[in-house]
Amino acid sequence: MKDGIFGTTVTCMDGRVQEPVLRWMRANFEIDYLDTITEPGADRVLLEATPALLEQLKQKLQVSTTAHGSRVVSIVGHHDCAGNPVSQETHLDQIQKGVKIVHLWNSNIRVVGLWVNEWWMVEKVADTQKE
Ligand SMILES: [Zn+2]
Repeated sequence: MKDGIFGTTVTCMDGRVQEPVLRWMRANFEIDYLDTITEPGADRVLLEATPALLEQLKQKLQVSTTAHGSRVVSIVGHHDCAGNPVSQETHLDQIQKGVKIVHLWNSNIRVVGLWVNEWWMVEKVADTQKE
């Protein structure tokens, strides 16, 4: 186990979302570091990826949860996404489905769905742990 507490995010490659997501994850979970797995339009990728790409994502996540001991993962979609240019409603639906998929991969890990809105503020739209 590494020093420090890790969390994980599966998010867009878009540079505008990285800082807000990092800040939100640090503010809401007691993490020191955020392992960041990026794909263009990550919320869509989780639903439409080929089996090979899904397997790669699963393995990346596994590095974070085993080597780094991460126990919380966020699935992120955002406003004005070039990799996934769909309506906000579709994004929210995809994020919620993506949260369920990742939770099926590893039910010991809390998975939250985050929407980064037009003001680059983060809203939580799904959570596998009821508060
Ligand atoms: Zn994007």
